[in-house]
Amino acid sequence: MRAIIAPNEMSSICSDLRSKDRTIGLVPTMGALHEGHLVLVKASLKMNDITVVSIFVNPLQFDKHEDLANYPMTLDSDLAKLEAIGVDYVFQPSAEQFYVDEPIVSISFGRMETVLEGEFRPGHFGGVGVVVSKLFHIAQPDHSYFGLKDLQQFLLIKRMGQDLAFPVKVVGVETKREASGLAMSSRNLRLSEEGREIASKIQVGLKLSEKSILDNKEPGLVKQEALTFYQKVDELKVEYLELVDGETLMPIDNYEEISELAVCFAGYVEGVRLIDNLYLRLK
Ligand code: AMP
Repeated sequence: MRAIIAPNEMSSICSDLRSKDRTIGLVPTMGALHEGHLVLVKASLKMNDITVVSIFVNPLQFDKHEDLANYPMTLDSDLAKLEAIGVDYVFQPSAEQFYVDEPIVSISFGRMETVLEGEFRPGHFGGVGVVVSKLFHIAQPDHSYFGLKDLQQFLLIKRMGQDLAFPVKVVGVETKREASGLAMSSRNLRLSEEGREIASKIQVGLKLSEKSILDNKEPGLVKQEALTFYQKVDELKVEYLELVDGETLMPIDNYEEISELAVCFAGYVEGVRLIDNLYLRLK
């Protein structure tokens, strides 16, 4: 495994690989790697000749400075994990190298970034759009892998790929969970044992919604049932819970003409903000 710091070097390595017809898989991450990230990496290793994992804590996507300053950094253990599963390249530029000049170009996703995470994290997806575009240009991947845990991010990047004709297939990967059902996240490290127990109820509520949807209960009722369930969980504070079209992210009031559906959750346990979702293909 080679660790590359300079964007120009990463770019010329990838151009060279492409000229030799090697397929490239890119997994963008911000480090602090856990099993959830490694599922994406393994999917890339399976589908491509070469796997590039980027580790870059992107300042443009943080709306709160303290979140950026406190973002966990575990570079040595990240590199060991990636090397152990056979990754070819890790791209780990500094912010100064990645953004020599602060970008003046912005990316906006219209209505799709005004809902869910976009509503509560202004500017977040614009920052994600810029970093991912730049990573696509540098690594020139055939495939790039994103977790369905961050469903809105996956859908926006997929749409960006189509709208701007990036020659990359954006692949969504199932959420990896703890045995308790809690979605893996670097934020879980900030929870106590009891906090993790409380947080595992997020998935219980989502499963309840899944059953009600499959029983064809109407969306308003499904939402109400889930909110009632969460209200009874002490120390769990819901920020939003929405049933949305799993392609457009717009709220739904019936299941007609919908092929994908998502129930999206955001909330707080012990002051830690957690997100999760249920993603269902109906047709
Ligand atoms: P991050 O480092 O948090 O930006 O995450 C990098 C990628 O890993 C994103 O595409 C996330 O959606 C994905 N990811 C994070 N946690 C999980 C998980 N538990 N299961 C699957 N993918 C995940």
